[in-house]
Amino acid sequence: MTPTIIVHGGAKTITDDKVAANNAGCTAAVEAGWAVLISGGTAAEAVEAAIRVLEADQTFNASLGATLNSDGEVELDAAIMEGSLSWGAVAAVQGIRHPISIARQIMDDKPRLLVARGAERFAADNGAEMCKKEDLIAEEQLEQWKEDQKVIDRPNTVGCVALDASGILAAGTSTGGTTKQQQGRVGDTALVGCGLYADNKIGGCSTTGDGESIIPVVLAKTAIDFLSGDRHPDEAAQMAIDALASKVKGEAGCILIDRQGRVGWAYNSSHMACAYMTVGQDKVAAFTQK
Ligand code: ASP
Repeated sequence: MTPTIIVHGGAKTITDDKVAANNAGCTAAVEAGWAVLISGGTAAEAVEAAIRVLEADQTFNASLGATLNSDGEVELDAAIMEGSLSWGAVAAVQGIRHPISIARQIMDDKPRLLVARGAERFAADNGAEMCKKEDLIAEEQLEQWKEDQKVIDRPNTVGCVALDASGILAAGTSTGGTTKQQQGRVGDTALVGCGLYADNKIGGCSTTGDGESIIPVVLAKTAIDFLSGDRHPDEAAQMAIDALASKVKGEAGCILIDRQGRVGWAYNSSHMACAYMTVGQDKVAAFTQK
């Protein structure tokens, strides 16, 4: 099988001064995941490695640098799914530096979706990198929140899909949710079928955008279904975004890898940060517009 990895840094508007940071962040994430894949690691390990890079980068709305909720606090959601239909997710958590790693840790056991205090307790008891909840607040986010500035480059989840050498697919997502969201709000990011989906027989998908619009059209599973009949992932991704736009309002994007290792992506926002790597490429391809 052809190892392949694609990441996104969110469907959003990217101003000129943020293009370089978005490209650099997505490239670094792909490089981290690619290093795992080419050293024989699994797709889930690669997805976790890539998303950890994005979670640590203030450019993106995930963990450090996440958008602040109505109370001025960071609340995080993340999920991961393997093409064997194994999955794990956390929602509305605070003080966890890498929610994607907790999601991966609970993939094989029940319960597989943990929220708020229960997830935080699980993380602390299982060796996660914990921090004060304030430590994840970035200066730029705080300023925007205080001044009630018009935020033009949010919301956006980060996400990743990977295919490993043994043909296993995995998809993951991580987010701080939407700007000034009500405390306790959870969008699509933690929900299998909406924010992410992976099936080794078909493909993997990670989505980004307006959770309240993504959830009712089950966007990730919809995109995977469009891969049937060997449709190219680029076409399937566009069909999924078109299906969303025909039914609900809201910005969204998705990235796809099919079981052959072909990549595709589509979005109806003005930009979507994205990067990918596969066998035969001499370097990571990164871009903020298609
Ligand atoms: N999908 C996320 C949500 O609705 C927002 C985002 O894309 O960051 O929570």
